[in-house]
Amino acid sequence: MIYLTNMYEKIVDIVSEENVMSKEPLKNHTYTRLGGVADYLVTPTTYEQVQKVVKLANKENIKFTLLGNGSNLIVKDGGIRGIVMNLNKLTTILTDDKKIVAQSGARIIDVSREALKQTLTGLEFACGIPGSVGGALYMNAGAYGGEIKDVLESTIVVDQDGELLSLKAEDLDLSYRTSNIPDNGYIVLEATFALQEGNYEEIKAVMDDLTFKRESKQPLEYPSCGSVFKRPPGYFAGKLIQDSGLQGTQIGGAQVSLKHAGFIVNKNEATAQEYIDLIKHVQKTVKDKFDVSLEREVRIIGEDLQNS
Ligand SMILES: Cc1cc2nc3c(=O)[nH]c(=O)nc-3n(C[C@H](O)[C@H](O)[C@H](O)COP(=O)(O)OP(=O)(O)OC[C@H]3O[C@@H](n4cnc5c(N)ncnc54)[C@H](O)[C@@H]3O)c2cc1C
Repeated sequence: MIYLTNMYEKIVDIVSEENVMSKEPLKNHTYTRLGGVADYLVTPTTYEQVQKVVKLANKENIKFTLLGNGSNLIVKDGGIRGIVMNLNKLTTILTDDKKIVAQSGARIIDVSREALKQTLTGLEFACGIPGSVGGALYMNAGAYGGEIKDVLESTIVVDQDGELLSLKAEDLDLSYRTSNIPDNGYIVLEATFALQEGNYEEIKAVMDDLTFKRESKQPLEYPSCGSVFKRPPGYFAGKLIQDSGLQGTQIGGAQVSLKHAGFIVNKNEATAQEYIDLIKHVQKTVKDKFDVSLEREVRIIGEDLQNS
């Protein structure tokens, strides 16, 4: 307990009291509305604070976990020990000619809206992706034929030692829903997107169309983490799940969406365990029926609930 109290004070020394929460329920910070508590949820307001927190975690040998907007994550019911950081207080978006520089905690939706405002084309695909800039780079987010890789020029990251690095897009090995960010343990601080001069009405028409498609096809009325599985080569995950008769299948409060089979929704106060059990059930059923392995797109982090 003394150890934990000391750690709280050390974190407060870096980010000040209003930017650290103890025993914070992570269901308040994830789109699925699932997850136990974080020992400390830290929300730095400068790049230097991010560096210092990483260095503190290294020095004290304390576990460090990064969250974005929590839209591609399932946090287990036992929560996350140590320091959990999100960059939701670093949200500046600036335009310079045909480039947009966005801090990592900005929502990629807002970057896409800024592009529209500046009549810049290239980020229309991102207008409905509810992640942060950092989370979007991490998994090379994409939709409707576009992806981050098409528009990212460069990025500033903090490495595992807490040092700042300036990288080109090519340095991140972006490909379908992956990058080398997890392997390198980079924390994205900001990204520069290179766009093209466009036409306001045309950009808006594309964004309106994509928004309409999303709203009519996706179960946005329930908490979820978007598409649970990656697209298996030669197939569509949603179609395989649908053809396996799994739509509507429910474990506890988690349900395979009736509107879009690729989504699992938190219909009624699901636990993370119920959600995870349902993911495994879907994987097994599709494998048995079609001999196709569904790889998860969504990340599962944290600890199981300890039975006391
Ligand atoms: C309704 C809905 C629709 C969706 N539609 C799409 C879609 O069309 N296309 C698509 O690609 N995705 C989609 N998603 C999934 C999700 O929005 C994206 O994967 C998004 O990029 C995740 O960003 P995030 O900030 O929420 O990351 P989180 O879910 O918080 O984190 C995901 C991973 O990114 C890492 N990360 C977060 N921030 C940083 C950072 N600053 N530096 C380094 N690593 C970081 C985290 O450590 C974690 O490992 C959808 C989700 C929902 C709920």
